Amino acid sequence: MEFDYIIVGAGSAGCVLADCLSRDGRNSILVIEAGGSDARFWIKVPVGYGFTFSDPRVNWRYSAEPDPGLNARVGYWPRGRVIGGSGSINAMAWVRGQAHDFDDWESAGAAGWNWDTAQPVFERLVSHSETGPDGRTRIRGTGPLRVSDLSAQMHPFSARFLEAARELDWPLTDDMNGDQPEGLSRYRSTVRNGIRCSPADAFLRPALKRGSVKVLKHALVERLLIRDGQANGVQYRIGNRTMTARARAEVIVSAGAVNSPQLLQLSGIGPADLLRSHGIEVVGDLPQVGRGLQDHLAITHHFLATEPTLNNRLSHRPGQFLAGLQYLLTRRGPLSVPVNQVGGFIRSEETSTVPDMQVFCNPVSFSTQANGKPQMDHEAGFILSVQPCRPTSRGEITIASGDPRDAPLIQPDSLSTEADRDAAVRASKLLRSLAGTPTIRRVTRAPKAPDISAMNDAEMLENFRARSATVFHPCCTCRMGDAPENSVLDERLRVHGVGRLRVVDASSFPNITSGNINAPTMMLAMRAADLIMEDAQTSALHT
Ligand SMILES: Cc1cc2nc3c(=O)[nH]c(=O)nc-3n(C[C@H](O)[C@H](O)[C@H](O)COP(=O)(O)OP(=O)(O)OC[C@H]3O[C@@H](n4cnc5c(N)ncnc54)[C@H](O)[C@@H]3O)c2cc1C
Repeated sequence: MEFDYIIVGAGSAGCVLADCLSRDGRNSILVIEAGGSDARFWIKVPVGYGFTFSDPRVNWRYSAEPDPGLNARVGYWPRGRVIGGSGSINAMAWVRGQAHDFDDWESAGAAGWNWDTAQPVFERLVSHSETGPDGRTRIRGTGPLRVSDLSAQMHPFSARFLEAARELDWPLTDDMNGDQPEGLSRYRSTVRNGIRCSPADAFLRPALKRGSVKVLKHALVERLLIRDGQANGVQYRIGNRTMTARARAEVIVSAGAVNSPQLLQLSGIGPADLLRSHGIEVVGDLPQVGRGLQDHLAITHHFLATEPTLNNRLSHRPGQFLAGLQYLLTRRGPLSVPVNQVGGFIRSEETSTVPDMQVFCNPVSFSTQANGKPQMDHEAGFILSVQPCRPTSRGEITIASGDPRDAPLIQPDSLSTEADRDAAVRASKLLRSLAGTPTIRRVTRAPKAPDISAMNDAEMLENFRARSATVFHPCCTCRMGDAPENSVLDERLRVHGVGRLRVVDASSFPNITSGNINAPTMMLAMRAADLIMEDAQTSALHT
């Protein structure tokens, strides 16, 4: 078990790395994944997101600690534990974010990470499937990941959201992924021919065909092996057996924003006091490991509708049967489209220098069952949701014990800055104005309690504390920066003070980006692979 590179985690970042590092045929690569196969019906079918959301066979199903800023509520944190990682259970929205998000990475100390370097990498990642006015579908670009315009398959109700935006004079755009995205449009999704196109489909499977990449499933990496300040392998467990694998060149941790800092801490890299309190020998005292956690919180309101929505088609057995049949025969219809259908970036105030809110409008509504799981309403309904793009609160991930099988503690520390509390109120006002447009009022039979229309600022903040929830974008827990005092990684994603060890995934972001973070995570991984190959060439020249 000796390889050039060992990648921990076959998620969004790990799959991209496996592909890019194996392309020139020179490297042998081991990818170690705690979860199992992604060959599951509800992973492949775009609408299946609701089923994998809490399925323990593919999901770590974490809970955060009681969050003081959210009235001590305990948030549910799904994370993919399966080949493809969270990219196999996510909602498939393809959103690159805004140019300034990446320029801000450079300002935060990650030299060389800015929009000019990120933009061409985004282009290399994807190919776009677009349907023109003539109804014909064209493919643009040659990247492995397919991003599709599914407008034609979306529920007719989704047009109501665009009408409402027009009434507010909000901009409409065809391209939420332009250089300066602003305005509402229909979301683009990582779907190919009606089937989820996950990071595993786009990157890992082609890499496996090259023969130099090996994947271990159901293998939990328990510890990084570090000798004389250099990582040289990992210890992992399959069932009751503990084994090791060695890396000749590097170990790359891509276990995601929750598990990457956990693994570093278990391996003796982290805040020294924390490690000692769990009896772990300190290999590197890096106080920022686990700190810096950021996430998006959204305020969501559900409404009962006067017109049919997806609920009418999918909440009853006959509708489900017909939709299932249509899907099996044609790969089209309501099962072929993720539930996030319309949204985009909007300014909450005229004075905002950049769009500062992301909007989601879905032609579907849910109720929470006694067991906490969402269930689609039987009557027509829809959802309006707004999230501040760039929260400034930062939380923390810490190990709960020295046992790798114990879930780490997640402390989001939401709304801990005044800027975030102000943004929560502005997000709520934006939602209220959308709900108050003539079109949305016309299609609303009743708001599902509570009614946001008459709330004052204080009530809106309280409503946000009582009802907002994560939209599953944790990041920045092993962030890049220019010094060990403010970061975990340097600008080439190398762990400060430990040789041959990098962290490449959503935890490496210096700051959260404005939108959904799967696209930025995969961009980061593709550029990281370029840096790793460059460094390998440089060290070969010097030996
Ligand atoms: C429910 C949900 C919906 C989302 N919807 C969207 C969306 O619509 N659009 C969007 O852009 N983003 C979305 N996201 C976010 C996005 O999918 C993630 O941010 C992204 O996939 C993170 O990639 P990653 O590589 O950092 O981690 P992951 O993809 O989570 O990969 C980490 C992998 O490492 C494995 N692992 C962890 N610890 C170990 C260990 N010790 N040993 C071995 N393996 C280990 C995990 O099992 C996992 O497979 C969503 C996320 C969730 C959970």
